[in-house]
Amino acid sequence: MRHVTFIRPNIADMRSGDAMEPLVFAILASRTPRDVAVTLYDDHIEEIPYDQATDLVAITVDTFSARRAYQIAAEYRRRGVRVVMGGHHATLLPEEALQFCDSVVTGDAEGAWEALVEDARHGRLARVYAGAKGEHLEGPLPDRSIFRGKRYAPIALVQYGRGCRFACDFCSVHAFYGERLAHRPVADVVAEIRNLDRRLVFFVDDNIFSSLAAAEELLRAIRPLGIRWVCQASIDVARHPRLLPLMAESGCIALLVGFESLDERNLAQMNKPWNVRGSSYADAIRRIHAHGIMIYGTFVFGYDHDTRDAFDATVDFAIDSGFFLANFNPLTPTPGTALYRRLGEQQRLEYPTWWLDPDYRYGRAIFSPQGMTTDELTAGCLHARRRFYGYATMLGRLRKAPRQVLRPYNLGLYLLSNTISRREILRKQGRALGPPPGLEAKREPA
Ligand code: SF4
Repeated sequence: MRHVTFIRPNIADMRSGDAMEPLVFAILASRTPRDVAVTLYDDHIEEIPYDQATDLVAITVDTFSARRAYQIAAEYRRRGVRVVMGGHHATLLPEEALQFCDSVVTGDAEGAWEALVEDARHGRLARVYAGAKGEHLEGPLPDRSIFRGKRYAPIALVQYGRGCRFACDFCSVHAFYGERLAHRPVADVVAEIRNLDRRLVFFVDDNIFSSLAAAEELLRAIRPLGIRWVCQASIDVARHPRLLPLMAESGCIALLVGFESLDERNLAQMNKPWNVRGSSYADAIRRIHAHGIMIYGTFVFGYDHDTRDAFDATVDFAIDSGFFLANFNPLTPTPGTALYRRLGEQQRLEYPTWWLDPDYRYGRAIFSPQGMTTDELTAGCLHARRRFYGYATMLGRLRKAPRQVLRPYNLGLYLLSNTISRREILRKQGRALGPPPGLEAKREPA
């Protein structure tokens, strides 16, 4: 075997204007023997040249991109190329993925990928390579040479840890890792950042504040590096007296926080009551902003105590809070989560396998909520996004933002990211997932 092609599928056969580098393939490239060439094709930014010769195709699959991934796999297999899959969706539903590919890597790829490549070199492939979860994270630095010449957002994705100490009922991270938490050696992370040609970093950890000791160790180590960075963190990061100052000193400019709901009964139902434990949202927001850190707030709608009034109330809150970005999503039951099981048991899933359903459209609510109709849930989320990303509202939000965050660099980022988010949200809404009509993914006969 001389050549492996990596593929990142989009939700459909479409290009996106906000694509970031798919870190997983830089990790796989670094763990592929030097005598095997690797190439990446990213459905988000380029056409896939199916006829280009290759010996093996590796596709990462998340639930939204599953139908498109299966179609891409069918195209390669029609040409006699072996296809392997990994990622969250393939891990949670390996038997489904195996109907469309030759082999599945479950769990983390580290360790399992090396074994798979070795087998492929000898002309054999097992059906399943069971990777560990949250182990073997030490090792070679990601090989970003596969991104060369591709038009990605000018931000480098770096990962320090995997897993989260919480168990929100809708969360696929918890479904994937369970209670496991793992971190790379800080020295590896520092070496990786020193090697980057970009000075804006996105720590893609599911929750950078999964361990206080680990978070502090990282922040102290990256403080001298002179980068700017953004991350995802649980809101209790704002309640710890040492973390916010350390984050600001080490270059943190923005934080993605899952507020999810303004209704405490919904937070209890999703197993996230701790979101408002110890301090209110207003208090946490004030503390984060006071350190010059912008907030990207995410919200979900459709828990049992949401009514139609929730949409405008939540958008008002996000505007008044001066958030630089926000997401307003219909609650999405993904396979493997407690939410998916509960809604299934209650027979409330209108599209039980929505990721495969040719009738499902991106942005549409998937289940019957209690406090409104399914259509109202779909329309309410779209209304919330349109309101938040209206041009007048974008400027109005700037006036609400505290002066500590209104530095020139942040202002540039604000304008750019809001414009892109507005465009991409509206482009995706209502899209059919996966292949265009007439190009259905082919399952292998049993
Ligand atoms: S805090 Fe975030 S990453 Fe952790 S379980 Fe909840 S939603 Fe998932």
